[in-house]
Amino acid sequence: MKESILIGLLQNAALLIAFSMLYQNFWIKHEGPKNIFEKIIVGLVLSSIGIILMSTPWMMVPGISFDMRSVLLSVSGLFFGPIPTVIAMLATGFVRLSIGGVGLWMGLAVILFSGSIGLLWRKFRPNWKSNNYYMELLGLGLVVHISMSATTIFLPTDMILPALKVIAIPLIFIYSPVTMLLGILMVNQYKNWQNELARLKLQESERRFSQILESGNVLSLLLNNDGTINFCNDYLLEITGYERREVLGKNWFEGFVPFDERAKLKQLFSNGMINKKFSINFENRILTKEGEELYILWYNIALKSDTGEVLGTASIGVNVTDSKRHEKNLEEKNAEIEAQNEEYRKINQELLKAKEHAEESDRLKSAFLANMSHEIRTPMNSILGFSDLLKESKLTSEKQHRYIDVIEHSGKRMLNIINDIITISEIESGIVDIHNSEFNINEQIESIYASFKEEIAQNGINFSYLNTLPDSEAIIKSDGEKIYAVLVNLVKNAIKFTNHGAIEFGYNLKKDSEPAELEFFVKDTGEGIRQEQKELIFERFRQGSESLTRNYEGAGLGLAISKAFVEMLGGKIWVESDEENTASGKDGSATFYFTIPYDIKLNKKNSDE
Ligand code: ADP
Repeated sequence: MKESILIGLLQNAALLIAFSMLYQNFWIKHEGPKNIFEKIIVGLVLSSIGIILMSTPWMMVPGISFDMRSVLLSVSGLFFGPIPTVIAMLATGFVRLSIGGVGLWMGLAVILFSGSIGLLWRKFRPNWKSNNYYMELLGLGLVVHISMSATTIFLPTDMILPALKVIAIPLIFIYSPVTMLLGILMVNQYKNWQNELARLKLQESERRFSQILESGNVLSLLLNNDGTINFCNDYLLEITGYERREVLGKNWFEGFVPFDERAKLKQLFSNGMINKKFSINFENRILTKEGEELYILWYNIALKSDTGEVLGTASIGVNVTDSKRHEKNLEEKNAEIEAQNEEYRKINQELLKAKEHAEESDRLKSAFLANMSHEIRTPMNSILGFSDLLKESKLTSEKQHRYIDVIEHSGKRMLNIINDIITISEIESGIVDIHNSEFNINEQIESIYASFKEEIAQNGINFSYLNTLPDSEAIIKSDGEKIYAVLVNLVKNAIKFTNHGAIEFGYNLKKDSEPAELEFFVKDTGEGIRQEQKELIFERFRQGSESLTRNYEGAGLGLAISKAFVEMLGGKIWVESDEENTASGKDGSATFYFTIPYDIKLNKKNSDE
């Protein structure tokens, strides 16, 4: 090879490298679409490189100078696109025109062909970079330079063959590979730049990610597959009060999870390792160094190797302790308010009851007053009326006796009412005392029987009593007067409400009760008591019939007094009645029961003596 050719080649090579630098520094580093102005500048620079290339040609055939403009323009078409390439084609075309000579038309055709082929390649093979670009570039080089060989037809006829002979081999074996090499150099520049960009982007995202990890109010934690701590950020240390060296390498579950949650969370963690999946949003408590509990809401993901093996977990957590406490406070407050509401509801109910009670009392008070005036006036009128009659001097002694009997009966009736009123007011003011003494209940029953026997017999009613215990075992220690009063009251009621049939009273020993007790009864075959009255009649001022036109005298106090007495003595009182008959208006029967504690030992002692 001649020295001038070598120098020309080297100069061309240097210029092509400069061309590639232009691509690297001005084209690919300024990412994004270029504006027309930038494209023109690049076109001008390309033109200058082309012109310099053309000014260092070498002669291969006498009269025809060669350079590497074909490489420059085809590669330019492929990499820079139409505007810069067309500018370079025009500039180099003018230069070639000004040189003239026999090779003018061939020189112009080379410029036109090589630039156009580069541009067409770019247009019709847009993905050439991602294909096997070595082959693409070699293909481009061959197409360009085979066409360049073809341009010899623009030479004078006698020069075509000699020229072809000289240039065909270098065009195919030097120009085409040079085109490929230049292209490869530029593709690599492009790829390097893309890699650099990717590296910068990665760096940026890593920086952002680590900023998140380190950021002030998010916890981050990496655990190995056995639960040991691989990484934690400053915030985790800050809120738990640990030093980093105390934490790294420790087992997370042993060190941070409260005992009551530990087994469960360990299990979840190992399940996650097996299933390669962790519950993404997960709330649990962690312990600080001081043992304080914090609530953390975790976002967990599995860290996997390239082969898909789970290496551990990455977790990001938010400290939700304050809102959790807030929530708890609210719950507590709610519960308090609910409890208060419940109390208010109860108070309301009580107030309602009290109101109803007050209204009822008011009604009863009025009924009582009306009843009382009736109850007092009736005997009073009798007393006054019959006293007047007694004043008559001509009265037979029989009539006198009858009048005196009426006055006596009315007096007793009044006395009874007054006594009842006094007793009930004493009970209500709590001044009724119990006077316990030992006495024989059989005697008391017999005495009551004796006092009423005649009166009841006169009414044609059968009257009997039942003492179930022998006298030796009939001793009780209680308030005899009160038991007497209760029994008398019940017997009097039985007389009052019974027109025919029988009245029986007495007691039975209930040994099975705890303690043992005597169960007294007063049974009659009177009108009976309706179901709904069974409780009411024991309330003060209440009567089975509360109308003033009822047939029976009485202020409705007797059973209330009896109930108070029985309860004072440690027993209870109730009534049973033949309901069917009572309800259908026929005579039924009523049995009043009350109990009094019975001391078995007392009687054993007595019988032993
Ligand atoms: P009073 O007899 O003065 O009305 P009590 O308190 O002794 O008051 O009795 C209350 C009510 O109980 C009576 O008005 C009556 O309706 C009912 N009563 C009480 N004893 C009997 C009985 N042996 N048979 C039917 N009803 C009775």
